Amino acid sequence: MIQDFIHEAVPARVLFGSGTLRRVREEAERLGGTRALVLGTPGRGESVAATVAGQLGGLSAGICSQAAMHTPVEVTARALSVVRETGADILVAVGGGSAIGLSKALALRTGLPQIVLPTTYAGSEMTSVLGETADGRKTTQRNPEIRPETVIYDVDLTLTLPAQTAAASGMNALAHAVEALYARDGNPVVSLLAQEGIASMARALPAIAADPADRKARTAALYAAFLCGSVLGATTMALHHRLAHVLGGMFGLPHAETHGVLLPHTAGYNASRAADAMARIARGLGAEDAVGGLFRLGRSLGLPAALRDLGMPRDGIGRAVEEVLAAPFPNPRPPEKAGLTALLERAWSGEAPSSS
Ligand code: NAD
Repeated sequence: MIQDFIHEAVPARVLFGSGTLRRVREEAERLGGTRALVLGTPGRGESVAATVAGQLGGLSAGICSQAAMHTPVEVTARALSVVRETGADILVAVGGGSAIGLSKALALRTGLPQIVLPTTYAGSEMTSVLGETADGRKTTQRNPEIRPETVIYDVDLTLTLPAQTAAASGMNALAHAVEALYARDGNPVVSLLAQEGIASMARALPAIAADPADRKARTAALYAAFLCGSVLGATTMALHHRLAHVLGGMFGLPHAETHGVLLPHTAGYNASRAADAMARIARGLGAEDAVGGLFRLGRSLGLPAALRDLGMPRDGIGRAVEEVLAAPFPNPRPPEKAGLTALLERAWSGEAPSSS
């Protein structure tokens, strides 16, 4: 039976396809932009940013490819000077969650409109959420000003994403859909999107691992990222995201890989209190059970299984549990010290998850 619900769709304009980058200038003009600052990440990201700037032609006001993981406030301060120096009146970000995070941080401080072109599956483009790091501490806020006005998904920009990065990023996307299925503010529309996102991503990732040039699989993964990002933006995340956030901030662990290790364990922690969500996850994965299916997917993709292999110290488990429990958050199964400690011990050493 359908329960009563409230559904608030994220009001973004989304272009999805191949070659959609060609529409970036027209989309910038549509938002009233006359001087666009292009944001990206250092290294490979710089040349992608240059391609986007080239597509903007005379509308490009310059490039700032300084974005870093977890949006450090000092990087934002430097980029803010570039916004002022160039007289930019619109932001165009290309890259993963790091480039999009910088764009959001600048939009929050300037009110400028944003166009983002995601090249990973992290999903940040579809949310009004920004996590920023100052003095080694990450804080998150939600504000409509943060949400990008236009999202351009161009599968061509994702073809260079290495298969391993794609796999880890795909697990990050799956984590959004898993938690949306048992979110306290979930609803039937969200569940539909989440289940389809899981199914599309679970089919795409093994195909990308087998053949990174598989364009059909790359398209399916990007489509899944859009669905998973949409449900991330529409609901309140629970234990999994809280844990990933705490571990990322405390030990500087790599974002997507940490999600990949934790996901089967957090699903296992909640399994007994979220039967309908688990059934949908299993169906999406084409697996007999959700928890085992998530764990096996990670192993089949060759992703790390243990937090210790990502650099988390063993004696950090107690501190992390304390930090997770320091503030209340919604979760199907009440978070408690013994259960969370056992969860982290298994995830730290790379053991299979427990569903009890
Ligand atoms: P990322 O943006 O740091 O990208 C990972 C690496 O992949 C980078 O080195 C980047 O240069 C490279 N890369 C990206 N696209 C590429 C491509 N197409 N080809 C080759 N290389 C490519 O990592 P991420 O996992 O996408 O994002 C993580 C960040 O996003 C974290 O700071 C996280 O907190 C944030 N995030 C925020 C939200 C939100 O809603 N606020 C959601 C998800 C993630």
